[in-house]
Amino acid sequence: MAHNSLVTVEPPRFDRPEVEVRASTKRKKTGAAHWSGSRIVVQIPARLRGKERSRFVDELVERLLNQRPQNAAGDASLEERARELAKMYLDGVRAESVRWVANQRQRWASCSPSSREIRVSSRLRQCPAWVIDAVLVHELAHLLEADHSAAFYELANRHPRQSDCAMFLDGFALGLGLRIEDADVDVDVASDVVD
Ligand SMILES: [Zn+2]
Repeated sequence: MAHNSLVTVEPPRFDRPEVEVRASTKRKKTGAAHWSGSRIVVQIPARLRGKERSRFVDELVERLLNQRPQNAAGDASLEERARELAKMYLDGVRAESVRWVANQRQRWASCSPSSREIRVSSRLRQCPAWVIDAVLVHELAHLLEADHSAAFYELANRHPRQSDCAMFLDGFALGLGLRIEDADVDVDVASDVVD
């Protein structure tokens, strides 16, 4: 490469995904951030050091997380995100439909393997994108394994932040005063819907 670019990776934290920091001598003042799978990539000026550097990174990450394009938008982008995640983690398994639903009170999401429909609680629109990603991968995995078997978790856990997601949702439920108490996203289910 013609210019110097130093890449470091910050591990995921509870409130944000893994962050890849690219410090480039080409950048003088401005930064940029984008998603790469479930990782955030930020580009910053190489001259930044210490607290100034971490503040700069934090701000870019925060701005990107607040945009949350896939949750601000409608069903089409949720469906598109599900397709991307299926390609990334589950050999491109296809759902018939992936929709936000308002009347999903006892669980975060559900999947009907027979009709191949996935429904996600609209309450999750407020969550960080990585949480929605983890929930989508969980539901997509049910298209391959209906039960919460070991084989199921092997598939669902291909998304690296399932346990973070469960913790996040516990806290989120508490904060919203919801009566969703189980760690699993969709444990409490009706008869024709698989959890
Ligand atoms: Zn499940």
